[in-house]
Amino acid sequence: MPTWATVPAMANAHSHAFQRGLRGRAERLSPDHTDDFWTWRTEMFKLADSLDPPAMYALARETFKEMAEAGYGAVGEFHYVHHQPDGTPYEDRNEMAMTVAEAAIVAGIEIVLLPAAYHRNGWDGEDRPPVAGQRRFCDPDVETFLSRVDELRTWASSRDGVSVGVAAHSVRAVPASWLGAIADYSERQRLVRHVHAHEQQRELAECQAEYGCSPIELLERSGFLGPAASVIHGIHVSDRDVELLARTGTTIVSCPTTEGNLGDGYLPAMAYLAHEVPIAVGSDSQVRIDPFEEARELETLSRRERQLRSGLLAAVGDLWQVLGANGYRSIGLADAPAAARTIDVDLDHPDLRGIDPDDLRLALVTCASAGVVNSATR
Ligand SMILES: [Zn+2]
Repeated sequence: MPTWATVPAMANAHSHAFQRGLRGRAERLSPDHTDDFWTWRTEMFKLADSLDPPAMYALARETFKEMAEAGYGAVGEFHYVHHQPDGTPYEDRNEMAMTVAEAAIVAGIEIVLLPAAYHRNGWDGEDRPPVAGQRRFCDPDVETFLSRVDELRTWASSRDGVSVGVAAHSVRAVPASWLGAIADYSERQRLVRHVHAHEQQRELAECQAEYGCSPIELLERSGFLGPAASVIHGIHVSDRDVELLARTGTTIVSCPTTEGNLGDGYLPAMAYLAHEVPIAVGSDSQVRIDPFEEARELETLSRRERQLRSGLLAAVGDLWQVLGANGYRSIGLADAPAAARTIDVDLDHPDLRGIDPDDLRLALVTCASAGVVNSATR
C-alpha cells in the first residue's frame, strides 16, 4: 500500500501576512464594550502601526513558511501597509511591498502582490479622513497609487516567483472614481484585481447611504466586476448581488476561519454554486493557516445551511481541486505550470490512516488537516 499520495497544492487567494501577529492578543475581549469586527480592526491598526520593514519581514517570512508547509502552493498577498506610520512614503515608495515579497521568496512560496488602494476612513456625508492608524495605508490620489503599482511591477519582473496584480481595499476605503480607474488599469495591463466587499452589515449601510446601492452593485456600476476580478468575503448578499457576480464572471474568495473568528457571518455557498459563481479560499487574518480547515469549514457550513449532508462537496465532486483551480485563476496564476503546485499527503497520518484511497478527495475536505502534508518535500 502506498504511504503517500500526490495532490494539488491549494491556492491562498487572500492573505494579509502581518496579521499573524494578532493571534492570541486579538482575543483579549473587553468587559466594557461589545467586541466586533470594528474593535478587532482597532487592534489590527495598532499592530500595523508598530511595524518597520525588518519587523514586517520577520512576521511575513514566518507566515509564508507556515503556508508552504501547510499545503498552500501560492499566495495572493493583499498588501496595504505601504508607507511610514505618519503616511510619508519610504525612500523607495514600495519598500514594504518588496519586503513582503522577499520574505515569500525566502520562505519558498510563490507570491502575487496585490497592492491595495486606500484613501479614507469611510463616508458620513463627506469623506472621513484616515485615523492615525490608517495614514500609512493611504495614497493622496489614484494616479499616485497606480504609478507606484507600475514601479512595483518593474521591480517584480526581475524576481522569480513574484508577480503583481492590483486591489482596491474596499468601497469604504476609496471613492467610486478610484474603483473605475483601478479596473481600467487592470484591464489595460491584464492584471487581476481584488476588493473586500460584503463582510459587515455596517459596510452595506454606509454604501447604501453614500450611493443608494450595495457595494457589489457599486462595483458593477464602476466596471470593477469581471473575469479578472475577485470579491473577498461576499457574505451578506442579495439575490441581485449574486446575479451580478455570476453575470460578470467574478470570483468570490471566502475566508471561513477568519470570517468565523471575526463574527462576520458565513458564505451562502449554495447560492453561489447555483449561479455558478467560482469560489476560492484564503487564510486572510492567519488566525489559522490550514487550507484543509478552510475547505472543511466551507463544506461544513454548506451542510449546516441546507441541514443536509449533501453540500458543496456532493455538488462539485472534487472540492479540493475546484477550490485550488479557482484560487490560482483568481490570483492570475492559472496558466503557470502546475507541476510545481503539488503536495504529498501522508496516508498514514492519523487524519487519513485507514481511508480507502478512492475516498481521498472526500477525506481531504472533511477530515484532513495541514498535519498530513509532508513539508520535507516542499
Ligand atoms: Zn482581508
